[in-house]
Amino acid sequence: MRVNFDANASVKPLPEVLNYLACYSGEFLNPSSVHLGGQAAKGVLDEARAELSQLLSLSSEDRIIFTSGATEANNSALIPLCAPAQSQYPDLACSNVEHSAVLECLRSQLDKGYKLKEIAVERIEDDSYLSEQIDDNLRIFGLMLANNETGQIFNVKSVADKIRLISPRSKIHCDAAQAVGKIKVNFAELGVDSISISGHKIGALSGIGALVISKYCQIKPLLFGGPQEYGLRAGTENVLGIKSLAIACKAARERILSNDRRMIDAKNKFANYLKSLSDSAVINNFGLNNLPNTLSVRFPGIKADDLVVALDLNGVAVSAGSACASGRPSPSHVLLSHGLSKQEAKETIRISFEPNITETEFEFGLNIFKETIARMINLRRAA
Ligand code: PLP
Repeated sequence: MRVNFDANASVKPLPEVLNYLACYSGEFLNPSSVHLGGQAAKGVLDEARAELSQLLSLSSEDRIIFTSGATEANNSALIPLCAPAQSQYPDLACSNVEHSAVLECLRSQLDKGYKLKEIAVERIEDDSYLSEQIDDNLRIFGLMLANNETGQIFNVKSVADKIRLISPRSKIHCDAAQAVGKIKVNFAELGVDSISISGHKIGALSGIGALVISKYCQIKPLLFGGPQEYGLRAGTENVLGIKSLAIACKAARERILSNDRRMIDAKNKFANYLKSLSDSAVINNFGLNNLPNTLSVRFPGIKADDLVVALDLNGVAVSAGSACASGRPSPSHVLLSHGLSKQEAKETIRISFEPNITETEFEFGLNIFKETIARMINLRRAA
């Protein structure tokens, strides 16, 4: 048996998605074509827009652009706003714990003459700190809804309102890839111009995502070519990926509506086990509001990379920091931003549960975890 306790990296495609694919007989052709196969594919796009609209409480005038994932959605929201470089309001800002899909995207604009402020997340709601950091020269502000490594949920609405007062012309983009599907997300209530979504974080296929743009916001395309997606994302749409996104959005809405407790119960039970280890495990607490599925925990004296490998060899997937950051020698910028030392960051692993986690999977993973940690603590003591 193998279990995925690394759902913030990727949730396995939902059974509903796999069942759909198993029965799919190739009926979808190009959604831009007028024939039956084209119109069937166009129907999939309409269905997915309807599902996303319900999940995110969108208005009929908000636009949904299908992308290859949240990385492309973030880049599509941010890069066109930075071109061409102008002397007028050349400042960019984002929290210092953004995913690299936002952070590196904004950093890539520095050679065009833009300046980037990385705002300390612990003070992001402090009015006086914010007004010291940004002024009316701000062009773009990026703030994620929930952090992929810590699970911390940010009060995006409150920060967006403050930003609008300081800099009414700026555009505010929110990377909602980790929040959608785990907590209720209402686009209008966030008060931002755009949000990005990732299919494989909610049980759709990899390679699909979406950018949602407010009816009040005008953007230009990142990709040029055909007129697909309101002329904002050229290229034939990934119809099966979009179908899987529609299925995953429906499942997420139903889970949230029914107050499905599988993720939070797994998280609470796991946290209780970690607490029973007393000093051998330190749960990193970041803010008061956290995702229902994510735990960040440090095992003093045990390297996270070693633990990840040991667990993997026994069938349990977890990660050291974010999936994109793991494998890199430097410790996570997110954990360092929260004041952890380099060593503490390198001892931290992320455990994140899937929405459909079963009792059997949970118990299997927990037992492997208990055995592995006990072994590694003994080795550490013996060393
Ligand atoms: N934003 C956040 C917060 C993420 O966690 C991730 C993936 O880890 C991404 C963006 C990138 O998403 P995708 O893999 O769909 O490009």
